Amino acid sequence: MPPRPEITLRFVLVLLSSLLLEASVAVPRAEAKRKSTPSKGIRRIELKKVRTIVIDPGHGGDNLGTRSIYGVLEKRITLRVALKLAAHLRETTRARVLLTRESDKPLSLRERIEFANRAGADVFLSLHCNSDPKHRGTGIETFFLSLKASDAEALKLAHRENGAELFTLPVQESPNEIQGILTQLQHVQAHTFSFHLATAILAALVKETKWRNRGVKQAPFGVLRHAQMPAIVVEMGFLSHPDEAKKLLDDAVQERIAAALVRGIELFDKKIR
Ligand SMILES: [Zn+2]
Repeated sequence: MPPRPEITLRFVLVLLSSLLLEASVAVPRAEAKRKSTPSKGIRRIELKKVRTIVIDPGHGGDNLGTRSIYGVLEKRITLRVALKLAAHLRETTRARVLLTRESDKPLSLRERIEFANRAGADVFLSLHCNSDPKHRGTGIETFFLSLKASDAEALKLAHRENGAELFTLPVQESPNEIQGILTQLQHVQAHTFSFHLATAILAALVKETKWRNRGVKQAPFGVLRHAQMPAIVVEMGFLSHPDEAKKLLDDAVQERIAAALVRGIELFDKKIR
């Protein structure tokens, strides 16, 4: 008996849909395979101690940060570099990479560091851009937490970056408060490692950009205050300087800065092994 036309048609439809299903499953599989194998030319980085990295793009929302002489806001540049850094880290390492913000939203300093504490981060990088009202300042500097600033300039910068959330220390009035913070700092095992992190990140950035090395400094940055892991503020360059601002706005330069930050994390990981 010859097959009825509707049965043949149904058979063809079933065959076609199963082929289509196979094809739709095959595409993501192929993609997944490609993602797990590093592309040609990409160097795989084995981080031994640094498993979770929290990147904090400074400012956000109505907290604009400083403004470049070309009008672009610090909060936008820190986010762009942070997203690039996250992409670089995910491509080259197996570390868990988290951002305190991935869009233009406001966050308090406390929220940022508590996010990192909750995540059990091994490294916390708060990304910022510097500013000098006289338009002369240039270069890169990194900061780790200290009650006492390295110098008057560092203290001024910490106050500016802290914004409305001033890191107030009633030094004379309440010695107990100071003692409390000191104890807190002593209890944070990672605090000493913050210096190594600040040194490694600075070295990698200066090597890549050839910009002025302003050194590793200390200041009472609110965003670092409750850190339970090595935590630093990175001032990636001056938005108030015509040349540096131009470079900081350049997509390719931001990529290079992100790649250098990865190398800095790698240097730090080697240092603390
Ligand atoms: Zn800032």
